[in-house]
Amino acid sequence: MAGARKTGTKTSGEVVPLRPARPCPICDKSSTRANYPFCSKRCADIDLSHWLSGSYVIASAEEGLSSDPEAGGEDDR
Ligand SMILES: [Zn+2]
Repeated sequence: MAGARKTGTKTSGEVVPLRPARPCPICDKSSTRANYPFCSKRCADIDLSHWLSGSYVIASAEEGLSSDPEAGGEDDR
C-alpha cells in the first residue's frame, strides 16, 4: 500500500489554478495580492464606502425582494 499514489495518470484538462485571477470589482484592473480582491487600496476604500453608504447590496438577494427601493434609505433607529 505504500507509495501507491506516487505515480499514476494525470487527469488531462483538470488543471486547478492556485489562485484564479480576478479583476478588481471596482475598476476591472487585475487585482493584486496585497489588496485582493482589489487592485489597490483605493479601490478597496471605494468598495467599503459603497457598503457604508448602503448603496451596495448583494444583488442576488436584493432582486425581487425589495418592494419599493425608493422608500428605504434613511435608517431610523
Ligand atoms: Zn481597482
